[in-house]
Amino acid sequence: MSLHKIALIPENPHDAIELTRLSLACEYLTELAPSNTVAEILSESVFTFRDCGQNFERIHCPSCGEDVSVEWWGNRIDEDYDGSGFRLDRYETPCCKRAHTLHNLVYVWPQGFFKTGVEIENAIGKLDKEHLQNIEAIVAVKLRVIYIHY
Ligand SMILES: [Zn+2]
Repeated sequence: MSLHKIALIPENPHDAIELTRLSLACEYLTELAPSNTVAEILSESVFTFRDCGQNFERIHCPSCGEDVSVEWWGNRIDEDYDGSGFRLDRYETPCCKRAHTLHNLVYVWPQGFFKTGVEIENAIGKLDKEHLQNIEAIVAVKLRVIYIHY
């Protein structure tokens, strides 16, 4: 059985979203969605990685657009993980030696690191631009949308 989820996390991982705003965003998403869909609060004490599952294709450098190898990326993931969460330190990319956090790399499809956000279970299809803007207004930060498929 395949699994579809949508995670909404801050575009800037250092922007924490207040719990009351996260609750309101969940209520809004639950109203939008069909009955089998559940919106849940994501709340972690440390930076946590949310991947896009089978939607993952490749990684680009945000400075020059070159592909970043999954091998290089995997080594930085190991380096950045401190045993409980990610530090989001900056690393020089192999292509143009610019310093970026793992969150700032360009992922196709998008994925990223978060402490707070919301996640929608059984989510089929894309989130409307208008609905996304409404959710961004509720949580008061710009969001990164992660479409997860397993
Ligand atoms: Zn580069």
